[in-house]
Amino acid sequence: MLGLMQSQPLLISSLIEFAERHHGDAEIVSRRVEGDIHRYTYRDLAARARRLANALDAHQLQFSDRVATLAWNGYRHMEMYFGVSGSGRVLHTINPRLHPDQIAWIVNHAEDQVLCFDMTFLPLVQAVHAKCPTVKQWVALCDADKLPADSGIPGLLSYEAWIGAQSADYSWPEFDENSASSMCYTSGTTGNPKAALYSHRSTTLHAYAAALPDVMCLSARDSVLPVVPMFHVNAWGIPYSAALTGCKLVFPGPALDGKSVYELIEAEQVTYAAGVPTVWQMLLGHMKPAGLTFSSLKRTVIGGSACPPAMITAFQEGYGVTVLHAWGMTEMSPLGTLCTLKNKHLSLPKDEQMKIVQKQGRAIYGVDMKIVDGDGEELPWDGKTYGDLLVKGPWIVGSYFKGEGGDPLIKDSRGRGWFPTGDVATIDADGFMQITDRSKDVIKSGGEWISSIDIENIAMAHPSIQMAACVGMPHPKWDERPIVAVVKRPGTEVTREELLAFYEGKTAKWQIPDDVVFVDAIPIGATGKMLKTKLRELLKDYRLP
Ligand code: ADP
Repeated sequence: MLGLMQSQPLLISSLIEFAERHHGDAEIVSRRVEGDIHRYTYRDLAARARRLANALDAHQLQFSDRVATLAWNGYRHMEMYFGVSGSGRVLHTINPRLHPDQIAWIVNHAEDQVLCFDMTFLPLVQAVHAKCPTVKQWVALCDADKLPADSGIPGLLSYEAWIGAQSADYSWPEFDENSASSMCYTSGTTGNPKAALYSHRSTTLHAYAAALPDVMCLSARDSVLPVVPMFHVNAWGIPYSAALTGCKLVFPGPALDGKSVYELIEAEQVTYAAGVPTVWQMLLGHMKPAGLTFSSLKRTVIGGSACPPAMITAFQEGYGVTVLHAWGMTEMSPLGTLCTLKNKHLSLPKDEQMKIVQKQGRAIYGVDMKIVDGDGEELPWDGKTYGDLLVKGPWIVGSYFKGEGGDPLIKDSRGRGWFPTGDVATIDADGFMQITDRSKDVIKSGGEWISSIDIENIAMAHPSIQMAACVGMPHPKWDERPIVAVVKRPGTEVTREELLAFYEGKTAKWQIPDDVVFVDAIPIGATGKMLKTKLRELLKDYRLP
C-alpha cells in the first residue's frame, strides 16, 4: 500500500519560489568585480532568475543542456544557480583556477552550450574560446556599457542586456526530481577530471540537511558569508540552503584577502562564514597584528582540508567564534560530516572538548559511513583503528558523468554500493570521524602508518610557523620517512633543531619528522588545498639527512 500524501517533486525552483514568497525582502549583498557593493533582495533575485530562464528558452536550449559559469561569488552567479537549473538545464560551474587546457577539456566534455563569465576571466575566455566548439553563446556577466567592443569573442553578449530584454514572467516547469540540475568536475589530480552530476532531489535534500542545527545551523536571523567559491561544489550548498532559510547572504566577489573579507564581515554584520583554512589564515593574519576583533561573527564552518587545531583555538579563544570543522567532497555534494558536540560532552573539561572538535565530525542524516581494511572488512569504531572511509547516501555519486572511470562503487554483502572516498580515517564510539590522511598521502614507515595531518598540525601550533606540509621521502631501511616543509611567519625565526624539539612529547618518537625544509610557499591547488604532488616535485632532488 502506498502512502496517500501529495506527490510533489523536490525541485530547485521550489527553493527560490519559497524565498521570494516568505523572505522576499531579505538582503543579498555582493562585492562586485567592479569593486563596488551591490544590494538587492530575494524578490529581485527571483525575478531576474525568471528573466534568465526566458533568455535560455529564447536560445532554444533544451532540457538538460549545459550552461557553464566562470564566476566569483556574487548575485549574478546566484541567479544562474536558480534560473539555469530551475528551467531544467544543467548548471556547470567551472573552477577558473584550473589550467586553461583543462578548462577547455572540461567545457568540451560537458558539451556546454552557453558560458557566462565574470570580466576578470575575459583573458582566460579569449585564450580558450576557439577550442570550445560546443559553446554557442558567450556571455559576459556585466552591464551592456562594460562590454569591450574588440573582445575577439564572436557574438559576445552582456548578461544585463541579455536578460534585460526578457520578461520576468515565467512559470517554473515541473519534472522528475531525479533530473540533473548541476555539475562539478573534480580537480583531476589523478587522470582527467570527472564530473559529479547532481540532481534536483539530491540538491534539495542536501539543502535541507545542511541547514540543520548540528550541521550548518542556518536561519533567517543569520547574515551568511560564503567565502568558499560557488565554482567549488556549489559553495558547499549554501546558495540553496540560504534560499531555504531566508538568511541574509553576503558575497565576497574576487576580494578574498584578509582585509577585504574582514571589512565585509564587519560592514554587513556577518554572523556566519564558511571557507577553507587557507582563506582563514589570511583573515587571521590580517587581524592579529592590527589588534582587530569581530563585532558580529559567531560561527565559522571550516573544511575542504584539515583545520589545524591552532586555528580552532585562535577563533574560539581569541575571538569567541565557534569553529565547525566539516568534511566532504565534490562527490558528496559536498557535506559528509560536521563536528558539533553532543549533550554528554558539554560537561567535559575544555581540553577534552577540544580533542573532539578537532575531528572532522559526525555523519549527517543522509550519509552512511564505515571504515574498512584492505579486504573490505568493516573495522571497529574505537577512535584508534584506521581504514579506508566508504560512504553512501542520496547525495553521494553513484557514477560519474558519461560513465567516466567505470563503476566507482564497492558492493557490500547485501549488494549495496559504497563510494570509496580515498580518505583514511578513524571513527570513535560516538561516531566522530577523524581523517588521518588522503590514502595517497599516508606515510608508510617500517610497516606503520604516519598521519601527515598530525605532523602538520603540530608544526602549525608553533608560533613561528604559518604553514606546514608533511610528505614521505624514500628511505632505504624504513621505506619512507616523514619530512615537514614549513613557511615561517613573517618577522619570526625558528631553526630546524628548535622545530624538531617542539615535536618531543607531542607525538611518538618514531613519528617525529626526520627533517625540516624551509620554503617560501607551499604549492596550493585549484581548490585551495595543498598540492603535495607539486611539493614532491619541488623536493625531487632533496635527500634525507
Ligand atoms: P577535490 O577532490 O576536487 O580536490 P574536494 O573538495 O572534493 O576537492 O576534496 C575532497 C577531499 O578533501 C576529501 O576527500 C578530503 O581528503 C579532503 N578534505 C575535505 N575536508 C576535509 C577536512 N575537514 N579535513 C581533512 N580533509 C578534508
